[in-house]
Amino acid sequence: MADPKACGSACQFIAPDYAALETRVHGRSRDPARPDELHFGPFRQMLRARLRTPAPGAQWTGITTRLAERLLEAGAVDAVLTMAPDPDDKWKPVPVLITRPEGMAAARGMRMGYAPLLALLEPAAAAGHRRIAVIGIPCQVYALRAIEARLGFERIFVIGTPCSDNTTTENFHTFLKLLDEHPDSITYLEFRADYQVELRFADGRQRTIPFLALPISQLPSDFFPLTCRSCVDYTNALADITVGYMAGQGEQWLLVRNARGAELLALLGDEIHTEAPGSAGKRASAVRGFLANTQRAAGGLPLRRMPNWVRPIVSWLMPRIGPRGLEFARTRVEMKACETIVHLRREVPRRLRAMVPPHVWALVAPYGLAPGAAELPPLRGNGPPQTALGDRGTPG
Ligand SMILES: Cc1cc2nc3c(=O)[nH]c(=O)nc-3n(C[C@H](O)[C@H](O)[C@H](O)COP(=O)(O)OP(=O)(O)OC[C@H]3O[C@@H](n4cnc5c(N)ncnc54)[C@H](O)[C@@H]3O)c2cc1C
Repeated sequence: MADPKACGSACQFIAPDYAALETRVHGRSRDPARPDELHFGPFRQMLRARLRTPAPGAQWTGITTRLAERLLEAGAVDAVLTMAPDPDDKWKPVPVLITRPEGMAAARGMRMGYAPLLALLEPAAAAGHRRIAVIGIPCQVYALRAIEARLGFERIFVIGTPCSDNTTTENFHTFLKLLDEHPDSITYLEFRADYQVELRFADGRQRTIPFLALPISQLPSDFFPLTCRSCVDYTNALADITVGYMAGQGEQWLLVRNARGAELLALLGDEIHTEAPGSAGKRASAVRGFLANTQRAAGGLPLRRMPNWVRPIVSWLMPRIGPRGLEFARTRVEMKACETIVHLRREVPRRLRAMVPPHVWALVAPYGLAPGAAELPPLRGNGPPQTALGDRGTPG
């Protein structure tokens, strides 16, 4: 962008201030007294949802791109900023500005990879677009929120998706090669909430692989960069509406975060089926096991691997007795929080103080992780009450 130095204040991985931005965007930061806000960020409504007629080529049923398509149809925005596939590589995301509703179909689907989405904000303003929608993953949405006031748009609708980890498109191709002998014919991949990776192929075939059977040990240790491994914004807390699948139990999962998010959802009218999300199972032992393995791996020790004969049994049991629905989403958020602490402590301990917000310490406290004196976040205006965290010592 014109001012590259803006990165210093906009980047989520330098000195984030979630509480202040949540307050600006949603009118308040996450409230520990409201169930699930410490985990998922501020929200008004949480739903399990699906489009009654799934959109072809969508990652799930296509709620994300349909919301943006409806905005264009209704004339509520002039352009939508999102990712489309590179014409030479269907897995490579390329930022695009879409101005006609029928253009949204080309953006459907998930492609692992980084691309400079926000670099198109200035060209969008220069093209005369006054009201826009942006679809983004958390690191894109955080930066957008940090700079939106100076961009001069009349209105920005922000549709976010959760994101657990991302990697380069080249790395993603390596992963596909390890998964199947015909990687070029894979058209779809998703890490589902029932502990399976789903693959779809150009000839219509489908295949699922249990998480425990994935060739993770064959991936290089930097397959996911430290930024993803230390991201505390899995659920895209600054979007107006978050559209994911984690708590959806086979369907999608919506977090309507503010009035603009409610306005967006209303655009879908009867096209969308919604219900209350379910929840089952218990997360504590899964998170504890994950933390122990992450600590061993970060310390250079071999992972405690499950014997091969046990894997199919556990893979069968997990979707039946493991955490499901909201409990699965809480499990994943707590795992990411533990991972953040372990990896930062190991790789850049001086960054913990600026990068780990108070609510994350509250999430990891049940697992015996507590901030040391040098890791305490600086005291800021709108954080959750200190009681959630105990004594945080001297302000910085
Ligand atoms: C790297 C990555 C990791 C994700 N991890 C999770 C997760 O752990 N849990 C979860 O619930 N959801 C995750 N998601 C979101 C999920 O894959 C679906 O996109 C979401 O559930 C919406 O489904 P849909 O059918 O409504 O989307 P669609 O209507 O198919 O629209 C998908 C939208 O995502 C955009 N998009 C695709 N690739 C990228 C990219 N690389 N960067 C930015 N935007 C992109 C597309 O341009 C499109 O606008 C992840 C998404 C990405 C990109």
